[in-house]
Amino acid sequence: MKIPFSPPFINNTVIQEVTDALESGWITTGPKVKRLESLVSEHTKAPNTLCVNSATSGLMLALKWFGVGSGDEVIIPAYTYSATALAVMHIGATPIMVDVESDFNIALPAIEKAITKNTKAIIPVDIAGWPCDYDEILEIANNKKALFNAQNDNQRKLGRLLIISDSAHSIGATYNNQFLGSVTDIAVFSFHAVKNVTTAEGGAICLNLPSPFNNDNEYNYLRCFSLNGQTKDAFTKSKAGGWRYDIIYPGLKINMPDVLAAIGVAQLPDYFSSVLSKRRTIYEFYQSFFKDKPWAVLPPYKDNKKLSSCHLYALRVHDISEEKRDKIIDAISKEGVAVNVHFQPLPLLTLFKEMGYNINNYPVAYNNYKAEISLPIYPQLNDNELHYIVNTIAKAVEENL
Ligand SMILES: *Cc1c(COP(=O)(O)O)cnc(C)c1O
Repeated sequence: MKIPFSPPFINNTVIQEVTDALESGWITTGPKVKRLESLVSEHTKAPNTLCVNSATSGLMLALKWFGVGSGDEVIIPAYTYSATALAVMHIGATPIMVDVESDFNIALPAIEKAITKNTKAIIPVDIAGWPCDYDEILEIANNKKALFNAQNDNQRKLGRLLIISDSAHSIGATYNNQFLGSVTDIAVFSFHAVKNVTTAEGGAICLNLPSPFNNDNEYNYLRCFSLNGQTKDAFTKSKAGGWRYDIIYPGLKINMPDVLAAIGVAQLPDYFSSVLSKRRTIYEFYQSFFKDKPWAVLPPYKDNKKLSSCHLYALRVHDISEEKRDKIIDAISKEGVAVNVHFQPLPLLTLFKEMGYNINNYPVAYNNYKAEISLPIYPQLNDNELHYIVNTIAKAVEENL
């Protein structure tokens, strides 16, 4: 049997919606993007949503909006995809990496310790779709207000560190019964091809800023900023008589095209009505199979505050070395099952090593990584395949312990 790791979920509804965009006479940012933005807001209850061309650029835009730049520090977990750090570096600020907990997510005491007078934002990452401790993170930001050195209007208005969740994995996850998107100041979703909801490439910035911010006004500013700082988008400008525009900000060019938004427009309602629960069913099947294996460390799924969006099934093998884990992965791959490792902690990667980050300072991140194997999880998997996956994994582990 051959089981791919994460093929996109493309059904007829998607094909029809994309064809509709292609035949409409309008293919870049226009009505499909607007529709996707309102669908994201409807489902997550985020006051406003702006779609952009990736989560990476969404994070950059959110940081730029808050005036974060050279000399500023942004706290991120060492255990994440590189984009979290690169977004911070691209806007000229310094990523301050901190260690995580055994649930894979950023550690609260580590955040507290890392805050200085230069810290402007925290980007917790909902690894695998498991929400971070947002009540406690907000409390830390509030407790450290005295250190916060506001340098522009938005920073003065907020009066504390900005909390941007890297929610690349967590659309559909809930925290205190609220969907991510309406939990943190700003949440950034990814619609990359392998994520729970996709537009091939794309991302969404959900605005949930506290008063005195007006989220509608901030949306309008961000929309303009995502389109070169131009006062009219191409769609509006293309209408007869609508030619005149102005450039009012040094904007980025990170808008999402309608052809891609169409994929998301078709996927999002299905995701919330059936695909997400299918992912959860698979996750629960894995949990019930591996809970009886003495060597298995189960990933977090739900507790009294949190429910995962089941983006990844991050299985760990108790007390195993990196070399043995790699052998297990080889054995699984030989049987045709594609598995993965999420993630290599950033200090293990050349760029960050050369910047001076040292894995020895992130023992929990390293321990999570060395024992981790991500299993396939997507709605197309049938019972036969799921049984084949778990049996293949169990055999490979037990032969290599
Ligand atoms: C995928 C991913 C991103 C980047 O998403 P893009 O849309 O590809 O820019 C950021 N953070 C995490 C944790 C991711 O997994």
